[in-house]
Amino acid sequence: MAASAVLLAAVTACGTETGSATGGSSGGASGVSADGRPAVTAAMYPLQWLAERVGGPDATVTGLTKPGVEPHDLELSPLQVAGLEKTGLVVYIKGVQPAVDEAVEQHAADRGFDVATSVTPLPAVAEEEHHGEEGHDHEEIGYDPHLWLDPARFATVATKLGERLATADPAHAQGYRDRAAATAADLTTLDQELAKGLTTCSSDAIVTSHAAFGYLADRYKLHQIGISGLDPDAEPSPARLAEVAKVAKQEKVTTIFTETLVSPKVAEILAQEVGAKTAVLDPVESQPPNGDYLSAMRQNLSTLQAALSCS
Ligand SMILES: [Zn+2]
Repeated sequence: MAASAVLLAAVTACGTETGSATGGSSGGASGVSADGRPAVTAAMYPLQWLAERVGGPDATVTGLTKPGVEPHDLELSPLQVAGLEKTGLVVYIKGVQPAVDEAVEQHAADRGFDVATSVTPLPAVAEEEHHGEEGHDHEEIGYDPHLWLDPARFATVATKLGERLATADPAHAQGYRDRAAATAADLTTLDQELAKGLTTCSSDAIVTSHAAFGYLADRYKLHQIGISGLDPDAEPSPARLAEVAKVAKQEKVTTIFTETLVSPKVAEILAQEVGAKTAVLDPVESQPPNGDYLSAMRQNLSTLQAALSCS
């Protein structure tokens, strides 16, 4: 008994000592990258794009999701988790990537910026939109996390991020605010183009692989029918597929939308059954192969105009 108590005390003392020594040596470097600029970690592509625009030359931005990787099921490497301990700010959206939500909670709780808190999110897709699907634990957050697909909300996020960085790094505050304003202006222009381009269309129904486009639909008065719910990996049941096919026929849908990072198989089967074609609508969850967030959204506008016969 006595021996193990002593051993335990020794281990505890050793651990404490190591901890304080580490804390002391890295004290001044916390939250900044090797070159001394504030370190910002962005959980997924649209947030990385925004952080790079707003951070400009004053911040170092690291993305957690590599190009071409579907972000919802991202798993973090031990190195990435360790990186969160040292970063100054983690920009993420609670509810998109469970692994990121957990890592921020455990390793960067005081430095997380959940951008969903800076806008009014839309409620999660209605129950009838995703029944028959299994394991959709993302919906537990109660709201739809795909908020970057509304450029107007995303402009608000840009402004809030600029304020956050200006507070964290007061010496460069004006730069962050200026770039945030320029980014918000670009997003407002995009919003106006989408609004104008989707005003007069002969259809408003968009059948999508997963229900990522709720914000786009809400903002531009379209009706989204998601084959899967908010999680692209949830397999739609035969009953759900039959229901979507029925609605698609009623709405005289000419195009079933697929995504770049989700297998188009289900959408193709559905298109065949309905007598429609398929086209790619990019939820911009990952870096577009050519271009950036803005160009991908403009491509989406052209795709929607063709599919919905807009004038
Ligand atoms: Zn998604």
